[in-house]
Amino acid sequence: MKKKQSTPYKDALEGMCQQFAFPIVVAGIPCLTTGGLSALEEAFYLLQWKDPHPCPENKCFLCNEWATCGTNTPKNYTQNYVRVCGKHFSQIQRELEKENK
Ligand SMILES: [Zn+2]
Repeated sequence: MKKKQSTPYKDALEGMCQQFAFPIVVAGIPCLTTGGLSALEEAFYLLQWKDPHPCPENKCFLCNEWATCGTNTPKNYTQNYVRVCGKHFSQIQRELEKENK
């Protein structure tokens, strides 16, 4: 089994891919893709990432979309703070407003 090594270069490359690769959802899993851009293809190759690269940790708390923001939650939720997509962020904000009336 290969040991995952962290180096400043690898961390920087991963960070750049996470910021600049394209977020998509494949079979219900948030993934990053190169979109065919050669600089990203080379970076994915060096990181030994498949294209698309699965990022299940970035899934919305309520659906399969990318979580793009975080929010506190109403009292009936199991967690006090969740990461969600834009659509569910709005929904939770409305629920919080009702709760505070
Ligand atoms: Zn969502």
